[in-house]
Amino acid sequence: MSEIPGMSRIAPVLFKAACPDCRARFELSAGALRLVIGASARTTFYSFTCPECGNAVRKSAGERIVELLTGGGVRTLRLHSTV
Ligand SMILES: [Zn+2]
Repeated sequence: MSEIPGMSRIAPVLFKAACPDCRARFELSAGALRLVIGASARTTFYSFTCPECGNAVRKSAGERIVELLTGGGVRTLRLHSTV
């Protein structure tokens, strides 16, 4: 198998996640996650649907997680509060 320079970066990124409800552990592709960046750390979170129980899971995201998710191609929604 020959490797095309630069192509390895296209490999899908998987994020390890766990469901707080059914405690299942699984890996999610970037497309299964959504990141919401709010005005403060309290309103910055990522969410996904548990593939085991179907629950919508929402978890707070710190700076490192935000970097990791945006770098991995997760859809990001930026909320700008003008209060
Ligand atoms: Zn679950």
